[in-house]
Amino acid sequence: MKRLLRPSLSRAVSKRPIRRLHATGSDLNKQQMAHAAADAEPVQVVLNTTSTSTKPRVVPDFIINHVAPTHSGSAWLQSKRLSEKEAYGEASLEGGYKQFREDIRNIVPDSRVFTDPVRTLAYGTDASFYRLVPKIVVKVHDEAEMIKLVQYAAKNKTPVTFRAGGTSLSGQAITDSILLKLGHTWRYRKIWDDGKYITVEPGWILGQVNRMLAPYGRKLGPDPSSIDSCWIGGVVANNSSGMCCGVAQNTYHTIKDLRIVFHDGTILDTADSVSWASFQRTHKHIVDGVMQLAKQVKADEELSALIRKKFSIKCTTGYSINALVDFDEPLEIIKHLMVGSEGTLGFVSRATYNTVPDYKDKASAFIVFPTVEDASNATWELRKAKCTDAVELMDRRSLRTCENMEHLHFLRGIPDTATALLVECRGSNAEEMQARINQAEKTINDAGLLTYHVRLNGINFSRDPAVCTAYWDARKALIPMVGAVREAGTSVLLEDVAVPVQNLAKLCNGLEEMFNKFEYYDGSAFGHALEGNLHLVFTQGFDTPEEVKRYEAMMDYLCKLVVSLEGSLKAEHGTGRNVAPYVEMEWGKKATEVMWKLKNLFDPSDLLNPGVILNKDPNVHTQNLKPLPVAHGIVDSCMECGFCESACPSGHVTLTPRQRIVATREISRLEALNTASSLDKAEEMRKSYEYLALDSCAADGMCAEKCPVNINTGRMVKDLRAKSVESNTDSYVNQLATIASKNFGLMMGGVPIVLNTVDLFHKLLGTKVMSLASSFVGPLVGLHWNPYLARGASPIKAPPSAVQTNAQNKKVVYFATCVSRTMGPARGDFEEASIHEKTMSVLAKAGYEVILPKGLSNACCGLIFDSRGYPKQGEEQGNNLEALLLEASENGAIPILCDTSPCLMRMKETFQDAKLKSAMYDPTEFAANYLMEHLVVAKREKSIAIHVPCSSKKMKKDKYFEQIARACAMEVTMSPVPCCGMAGDRGLRFPEISGGGVQSSVKVPPGAAMVIRDPAVGPNTTIAWDEVKDNCSEGFSTSRTCEISLSNSTGSHFKSIMYLLDRCTIAKESQATA
Ligand SMILES: Cc1cc2nc3c(=O)[nH]c(=O)nc-3n(C[C@H](O)[C@H](O)[C@H](O)COP(=O)(O)OP(=O)(O)OC[C@H]3O[C@@H](n4cnc5c(N)ncnc54)[C@H](O)[C@@H]3O)c2cc1C
Ligand code: SF4
Ligand code: SF4
Repeated sequence: MKRLLRPSLSRAVSKRPIRRLHATGSDLNKQQMAHAAADAEPVQVVLNTTSTSTKPRVVPDFIINHVAPTHSGSAWLQSKRLSEKEAYGEASLEGGYKQFREDIRNIVPDSRVFTDPVRTLAYGTDASFYRLVPKIVVKVHDEAEMIKLVQYAAKNKTPVTFRAGGTSLSGQAITDSILLKLGHTWRYRKIWDDGKYITVEPGWILGQVNRMLAPYGRKLGPDPSSIDSCWIGGVVANNSSGMCCGVAQNTYHTIKDLRIVFHDGTILDTADSVSWASFQRTHKHIVDGVMQLAKQVKADEELSALIRKKFSIKCTTGYSINALVDFDEPLEIIKHLMVGSEGTLGFVSRATYNTVPDYKDKASAFIVFPTVEDASNATWELRKAKCTDAVELMDRRSLRTCENMEHLHFLRGIPDTATALLVECRGSNAEEMQARINQAEKTINDAGLLTYHVRLNGINFSRDPAVCTAYWDARKALIPMVGAVREAGTSVLLEDVAVPVQNLAKLCNGLEEMFNKFEYYDGSAFGHALEGNLHLVFTQGFDTPEEVKRYEAMMDYLCKLVVSLEGSLKAEHGTGRNVAPYVEMEWGKKATEVMWKLKNLFDPSDLLNPGVILNKDPNVHTQNLKPLPVAHGIVDSCMECGFCESACPSGHVTLTPRQRIVATREISRLEALNTASSLDKAEEMRKSYEYLALDSCAADGMCAEKCPVNINTGRMVKDLRAKSVESNTDSYVNQLATIASKNFGLMMGGVPIVLNTVDLFHKLLGTKVMSLASSFVGPLVGLHWNPYLARGASPIKAPPSAVQTNAQNKKVVYFATCVSRTMGPARGDFEEASIHEKTMSVLAKAGYEVILPKGLSNACCGLIFDSRGYPKQGEEQGNNLEALLLEASENGAIPILCDTSPCLMRMKETFQDAKLKSAMYDPTEFAANYLMEHLVVAKREKSIAIHVPCSSKKMKKDKYFEQIARACAMEVTMSPVPCCGMAGDRGLRFPEISGGGVQSSVKVPPGAAMVIRDPAVGPNTTIAWDEVKDNCSEGFSTSRTCEISLSNSTGSHFKSIMYLLDRCTIAKESQATA
């Protein structure tokens, strides 16, 4: 039986079962080792380098794909499976699910319907600590599809759950029924009235919407810290908020209109009077029912007062029943009831927001108080004074985690009772901001609240972006820091409560007692104090019934504490399954009954996300807890938050980083369970895991850029690929790689010939016939042609001598990478010359003497080998190159220009010599630092596009790209694509990742591309990335293979930025002569 993490190994070496063991550093699980020895089966050991666990872990056994659910509240779901036989994929579907699958065959193509165990599990996971595995996942592309899917679900009585970014924490975005997951197609947007309003579809990430509004000086009100990962659908449905938005700027208070799909597929567009008139006719019972409830609530003074009071602070427990007291018009009531309804009343297919001003003038102060009471009193005073935009409280435990961070060393040695407030003041201009700062300082001083800063340096508001960023980064790091250091196999739990600000101190003290009582010694509390909202972060394993009981007892205690302080059990994260059993405790019987009536009115058959918000099961919050088994050292600290997903080029085709980790963990768990059925399931999962998780990963590591705990899933993938090859040392592919490495120059010499031959066929056959032919040939040879494939590069020539170039004592070592030595421009591009010719031309104009490293034709950084799973050959190549460059640059004394960004990053990562590393530059940084001052640059281009490769983003070179591009063009469109997915030639082998190929029905997900204009041309705006062809003459970047991918996905020719520089510059001397 083959095992997951080394598929090739199991294929090639052994037909016997291989036992996998997980070890923490040197601390291997001894029981397993002994057991393995006794079995004498081949043993694989995965070192979990980040894990600190020392005790043997129990493998929990409560995730299911086929166990009858008991939690959801849906009668249908509570029925048992008809057959107990193991079945996977469509064969496992029964009853209504089987029929639903049949019914939707003509609605959604098979490529977007998933029933296999890998993708149902992976797509079904959200950021909460609950696990339910959907039976069917459908990627839905538009509203018309959604209507039909909802209707067929109603027909078959199969509940549905909508899914946006999957960053929910309370268990509201998961299901064991049908998951309707939004594809990357929900991207309609319209900005109007000078940015005062924006209409968006639910697939936009909140941060992207803000980037579209930035040129207007506006943004959306909600500001959750998941801003760059959560989607509009989730923001509306959870009524999310954050540090600055408070209650006033959440979706409930800033929504203008919604377009809603109801349980029977009916549409209501609240902006359209015709739609409303029709809804009133067809759904009179809903309109009447809502009005009846509003009347009942308004007539009940006690209930109305309770509702008003509870929503004066943040509250996402239960439904937004404030709509029943805030509005008289049924249209407004229905619209506002949808906000925060967590997909249980209807689907939001469009949202129009009233935007809010985005003030640029801001300053922050980190103020330490001697006691939590002082900090809480200060918050209360500041709230009354209405002069601050954010006040974040951090308890003593939180402060300990950031005392070693830059600009925060003053926290060292403060007393055990200290509590801090991070305060931000903003203004529409500097004067307004200063007035607010003055008011804030006066408020704290007048209240006589002693601060430690008085002794240190007063209440010090800083305007320095570096200092302010350090403060806010420290605040934002509090959750990840707990996640990063937790024991492997435990979950990070994030509770989210709010109390009236006057009760904040009591809440803090109560939480401290609670952490001690239930032995959550790593627990800390911090949060949006201005709104009385605190987050509690702590870690918890759910391996044993005792641990689950401890959690249950703590939740009971917490809920009683918060309710006794007149607070909200969920301030901003939504009720979900997590506090559904406590809704009545918080709201009382009358209000809860109103909520049930609303649910029955809008969803009479209980098919929309049943069991979420309202649930009759008092134990729903302790069921279906997510196991987080130890799986691989690189990813064991993953919290499954989903922040990495938006950076991943393969996410829209196969799996995102989080989903790769989830699948890896589950196979690991199943293997560790070691029962016949678990091994059978693991085997089934491995069938698709290799392609979905390993082959289709670009291994670019962009996920690490977004991950709060810096997990590079690509590294795990490379490691697994390498292990698979490593174990096959005698295999012919490994031997072939070694031969290729040893004869690299010879091999690369043949590449231009091959490329030119392919190009000749392209010329003879034309693009259409060639595309057709390649669709047959591509799968056979494993490389897929596209019309933008490079032609062969011209051979690299010796650089002109110093005398010929008029070199002014300036020298540069030019490392033309193997990619630029072999790949020239594509057919159809008017450029004929190769990158190295353009680079030499620019260097000559700037008066540089160019030195080519000896043995250049054999030189390679090794990336090509490493990314394919041949790290040994890659290392050899890298070592050779380092020696060549040390010699050519006189040990790093002469600067080195490398023309390909991914290669430069690999060199920086793997070279040993520090001086050499700091002497190496990509084309943009070299141009900015060494060339521009020696050249006359003209804005010759009208409108161009720029793509910063992921490697350059990681090396923080973005600013140089922008600088060069803006010097050469009147209008520059900056690509929003985090990674093009090309990853060397992987995009040619798996074109679907880079936006080509039939599997990829959506091209590279278009984001909001920033268009930066010369002031003479007009103000900055944004466009969708797929509009780049219409807006820009060409695109420029610094990686030839990425450029092929970008050209193919946009239809616009992309090439090296050196072409742009050569076109737009002349030597200073030439100007003098002219
Ligand atoms: C580390 C971390 C920090 C966080 N910080 C904050 C914070 O500061 N403030 C905050 O408020 N939240 C926070 N969250 C929670 C979460 O990110 C937000 O609630 C977010 O808005 C959820 O959006 P999503 O796109 O991930 O939605 P999902 O999780 O996919 O879905 C959320 C809910 O909306 C429903 N839904 C999705 N799309 C639609 C639709 N189109 N129509 C109807 N229903 C729909 C789903 O069924 C589900 O019930 C945080 C989460 C994490 C992991
Ligand atoms: S890899 Fe990082 S960003 Fe991605 S889900 Fe895990 S913790 Fe979150
Ligand atoms: S390395 Fe790239 S493709 Fe692979 S999981 Fe990370 S972001 Fe996705």
